[in-house]
Parts: sequence; structure tokens; C-alpha cells
Amino acid sequence: MNRRHFLSLLPAGALTLRAQTPPKILIAGAGLAGLCSAYELSRQGFPVTVVEARNRPGGRVETLRAPFSGGLYAEAGAARIPDTHYLTLYYARQFGLPLEPFEQPGMHPVSYMNGQRVDPAKSDELSAKFYDPVVETLGQLPLAGKFPASLTTYDKVTLGKALAAKGATPEQIKLMLLGFDPAHGSAAWWLQEDMGLYRKSTLQRVVGGNDKIPYAFAERIKNNILYETFVRDVEQDEKGVRMMVEGKQGRRVLTGDRLIMALPFTMAKSVMKSAKLSAAKQQLMEQQAYDAVVKVFLQTSSRFWLKQKLSGFANTDLPIQRLWAGTVNPAVQKGLIHSYLMGQDALRLEKLNEKVQLEETLRYGSKVFPELATAYERGTAKAWHADPFQLGAFAQFNPGDMARQLPLNGKMEGRIHFAGEHTSNWTAWMQGALESAHRVVYEINSRL
Ligand SMILES: Cc1cc2nc3c(=O)[nH]c(=O)nc-3n(C[C@H](O)[C@H](O)[C@H](O)COP(=O)(O)OP(=O)(O)OC[C@H]3O[C@@H](n4cnc5c(N)ncnc54)[C@H](O)[C@@H]3O)c2cc1C
Repeated sequence: MNRRHFLSLLPAGALTLRAQTPPKILIAGAGLAGLCSAYELSRQGFPVTVVEARNRPGGRVETLRAPFSGGLYAEAGAARIPDTHYLTLYYARQFGLPLEPFEQPGMHPVSYMNGQRVDPAKSDELSAKFYDPVVETLGQLPLAGKFPASLTTYDKVTLGKALAAKGATPEQIKLMLLGFDPAHGSAAWWLQEDMGLYRKSTLQRVVGGNDKIPYAFAERIKNNILYETFVRDVEQDEKGVRMMVEGKQGRRVLTGDRLIMALPFTMAKSVMKSAKLSAAKQQLMEQQAYDAVVKVFLQTSSRFWLKQKLSGFANTDLPIQRLWAGTVNPAVQKGLIHSYLMGQDALRLEKLNEKVQLEETLRYGSKVFPELATAYERGTAKAWHADPFQLGAFAQFNPGDMARQLPLNGKMEGRIHFAGEHTSNWTAWMQGALESAHRVVYEINSRL
């Protein structure tokens, strides 16, 4: 399977069904992976049923509109669309969704380290010396969850260790990776993102909220989605698949010919006990790590930072890690700044109640942007480990994990296909969920 095969799935009717009666496909989860699989398969004439526990589509693409006012909204999950993410862009265009810049054009970010602002260009200079030359040796990002051989040595160490091996001092590493923990995850996990050209990309977002993408998919297959319905168990044999579900109409069994499991492994592992999976797959599902992410959102009375030619974005060595700004719409008077924490800092913060999360974010945020203290109006927080439908933010690969796990995460077992960001080389991206959907559509078509 190659890039051409994936793209060949895109035009409706491009594939001719070889079977007399198209197989019936059951799909667990109405995140982007489940929705995109259902949409593409239904365009090709397959009967599909999507089962979703929440009362909305989109899973980790979640736009928050409350408790904000003045036309503000915030992305609890997926926020950025790099211009190299061709599938995300393809569907945004296909659904007629306008995009806008992710950051206010012409403004500058802040770097905050050791109690003061430092010149962000210094971090870029260090990256140009130590990080970019590594990325240049890695080659093109593969598709379909194949482990890139060029990352073999980088999968054995953290990014901090990999940069130290290139001669960077601890202080240089801290500045280069400001806002990130250099000991968090395998170097391969981070570098893979830049094999997908992340740092070279221009970032955009959907005007009005990124959740317009999953809602657009869902609108087109609305008669095929069962909301507020939990997948409880899955069975398969030589005749077909069965999904035990529980919703407003009580418990029932759905039957089909093939099943797409598009839940994150945090959720999938507890609903696949009867699926006759190999011991290796079960172990993989148990072992897959998921990163903790907390975002704390602060609404402000104005976008005071613009007057200082600042974008409202900051990388810091404080426990809030990073600050991002919300809207770029000039018609919106108010502002929005949020922290974005991963790993240990996120695990600590998510145990605190929301009042304390907001107070702490405001206290640290005001060190970076002193006007924040007086401009703050209201806020909210999102902790992805605490979300009962997710139990984690996105697949995380620690040293040694990626080469062993990534190529197997998406491997089908019998009549069950596995989709989701955790099965793709674009882990932690919408593009990953969409790419995995194209892979399972291809798998199903190639077995007709
Ligand atoms: C904090 C954060 C920041 C991110 N930033 C970006 C970004 O800037 N740009 C970007 O492109 N991507 C980003 N992503 C990644 C992107 O959101 C995901 O890769 C993508 O949305 C995952 O889609 P999915 O279909 O694989 O899984 P999900 O969205 O998790 O879909 C799974 C679905 O299954 C449902 N479900 C769970 N259990 C059950 C059950 N038992 N029965 C039925 N349904 C169930 C869930 O409710 C969910 O709707 C971010 C994600 C997070 C969390």
C-alpha cells in the first residue's frame, strides 16, 4: 500500500465493488477515524453502523463554546492543521469549511526561562544547529503505521539524550525544547512528527471551530450513527462479527461481516475480551501508553498582547509549560489564552479542582504576561485522562516502544480492523485518524 493507493480511495465511486452483496460493516467510535471510515465506505455502497458513547461526534476534536462569551470558543483537543496534513485539508475543503491562520500574523511569541523573557530566536538557532540536521537525515514519513527504519537509534533514547549525544549542553537543550520535558517520550516519537514536516508547516484552523469537520462527516451519514450507545463487547467467528451495545433502548446485539475498532486502546482493551484476539494484540493494547494533557482556558477582557506585537503564545519553563492564544478574528473584542501541559505536570494538575487549576494558571501565566491578572474574566479546564470516554490524550511512545508497537497497533485480526490515531505515523493528529480510516477502507476493499 502506498500514497497513491490512499488517494485513489478519495473520489466517490472510484472503487467498483467486487462482491454481489456488500459486506455489512460495524464501526466502534465516532471520532474522526470511525466517521471517515463510515463516510468513505458508505459512499462506496457498504452498509455501515457507527456506535458512539457520547451524544456528539468528534471524540478528541472538541470545540468548547461555554463558559466563554463575546464570540469566543476554544479547542480542548485538536487545534492546529499543518499545511502538510493533506487529508485534514482535503476534507475541510470537501466540506466547504473556511480556514484561518492559527496564530495572529505578524506577531511574536514569547520565551520565558529562569524567571525572565529570553529571545525566542536563540531557541531557533540551537534547533538549526542540533535538531534540524537530525531531521534532514531521516527521509520521508512512511504510511500506515510502518516504523521508519531511520528512527531505529532514536527510539532507544529520549529527545534530551539524543540532543546531548549531538553535543548540546543541558542548558541548550532546555532552551531548545522550552515548554517541553526533554525526558518525555522517545526521541523517535518527536522526530516522526517532523518527518511529517510539522515545523516547516504553516498552521491553520477551521473558522468557527475544528469540530465543524467531524460534524460535517456526521451530517452526511446521520442515519448510520447510534449516539449515547456504548460498545460493551465484541465477538467474531468464521461467519461474521457481533457487537454487544448498550444505549437508551437497553442492551442489544448488532451483527455484521466486518468490524472497525476505532476506539483508543485505553477504551478498546476493555470491550474486546470476547474478540478472540491474539495474545500479542491484547498485550499491545494493555501496554500502549497514552499521554496526559491538561489545557486551562482563561478568557480575558481584551487581547492586550497584540498592542505589544505579541501573538499570545509562549514557551516557558514554568509548570504551565506553554501558553497559546485563541481567536484571530478582529471582530472579537475579548481574548483567550490557555496553557497546554503534557506528562508529569499534567498528571499533577489534573488531580486539583478546577478553581485551583484556574488560580495556578493565572498565577504562572501572569509571570509571562503581567496584564493577564487584571484582564482575566472567567475560565475552564480540560483534562484528557479524566475524560471517561478517552482516559488519555493520545498515544505516547516511550523509549523502546515505537519500533515494537506502532507497526502492530493497526494490524487486523480476523474480521476486525483497527483504526485511530494510535495506528498511524501521524499519532496525535487528526491526519493520523483520517489516514487510518483510509487504510481500513483499503483493507476491507482488498478482501472482497
Ligand atoms: C489535547 C489534544 C491536542 C491535540 N492537538 C491536535 C492538533 O493540534 N491538531 C491535530 O490535527 N490533532 C490534534 N490532536 C489529535 C486529534 O484530536 C486525534 O488524533 C484525533 O481526533 C483522534 O481521532 P480518533 O478517531 O482516532 O479517536 P477519538 O477521537 O478518540 O474517537 C474515539 C471515539 O470513541 C468513543 N468511545 C469511547 N469508548 C466508547 C465505547 N465503549 N463505545 C462507543 N464509543 C466509545 C469516544 O467517545 C470517541 O468519540 C490533539 C488531541 C488532543 C487530545
